[in-house]
Amino acid sequence: MRTVQGILSKLYTENNLTKDNMIWLLENMDKKGKELLFDYARKTRNRCYGDRVFMRGLIEFSNICSRNCIYCGIRASNKNVARYRLTKDEILDCCKEGYDLGYRTFVLQGGEDGWYTADRVADIVSSIKELFPKVAVTLSLGERSYHDYRLWYETGADRYLLRHETASRQLYERLHPDGDFDNRRECLFSLKEIGYQVGAGFMVGLPGQSVYNLVEDIYFLKELNADMIGIGPFIPAQNTPLGKEGGGKVEDVLVMLALVRLMLPLTLLPATTAMGTLDPKGREKALKAGGNVVMPNLSPIATKSKYQLYDNKICTGDESAHCRVCIENRINSIGMKVDMGRGDSLVHLN
Ligand code: SAH
Repeated sequence: MRTVQGILSKLYTENNLTKDNMIWLLENMDKKGKELLFDYARKTRNRCYGDRVFMRGLIEFSNICSRNCIYCGIRASNKNVARYRLTKDEILDCCKEGYDLGYRTFVLQGGEDGWYTADRVADIVSSIKELFPKVAVTLSLGERSYHDYRLWYETGADRYLLRHETASRQLYERLHPDGDFDNRRECLFSLKEIGYQVGAGFMVGLPGQSVYNLVEDIYFLKELNADMIGIGPFIPAQNTPLGKEGGGKVEDVLVMLALVRLMLPLTLLPATTAMGTLDPKGREKALKAGGNVVMPNLSPIATKSKYQLYDNKICTGDESAHCRVCIENRINSIGMKVDMGRGDSLVHLN
């Protein structure tokens, strides 16, 4: 007979599960089961990475986007967004501030903004690498050509974040009127092949998303052997087609985080800002469910509030130095420690 405890202890020791068992587990999980799941996830994280949390400085360099993802606050047709793009010098200033605060990873994230040509991005990456030796550079600017990805890798970019968003073709196509499900997956496999540490990930609580869809997400991540996995709740954004829908639940995200930690023990797992937005203790809870990365914001204070992927995003009025201290206090409050190192993925190093 199947029991929640039985399946969880199998998952804990084997780091694998059949789809059928995973669905059964999700449908039968009770409060006690969740506690055990989180406990196993924490132990697995501690075995692989210890009780440390890696810090990444996030620079939101442009909110200009040519795409129309129906959940996203900065989608092209949202006329209520004050658009901006940072110059190379402004990006380097953010890095300088971050470097002085101790950050050794910079994540450059933005909309799909064609102004940033392959050469412009390559130039920015190589300047960062030159000015700040030994830092890791992570790019996250959407779907680009194999040529662009390769050029940036050769210029020194180390990592690339491109959430797959959902592994269900049907749901993906509904959410991305101008998207191509196969192309996004192909991009992820190309990035891996080129040599990047690759981050994928998905949203939880999307309208029309089933338990089966979430299970598909986990199996896709396993197939990709993702180095990093960003998981957060869907949060409605005003002036978007999904603006009046219900959002994802913190508890449901925690279950997915812990499952992912057990299925891919060596992956890097951020406690996302979206979790902190839904629940003041959301990021702490995510770390207690197996997470080991946080991405405090290093964007200029003047643009922080303009990168609104969803409503009520936290920390948009805070100085970068404040975020640095605030997050460290949160990490210490749950008995974990900050690690200011590069924090490379063990999936990649192994
Ligand atoms: N243009 C880049 C960066 C996208 S923004 C790219 O295509 O990868 C980073 C992530 O924010 C997205 O991948 C998406 O998963 C998440 N996001 C966007 N809108 C959201 C919303 N309304 N609620 C929660 N997460 C959202």
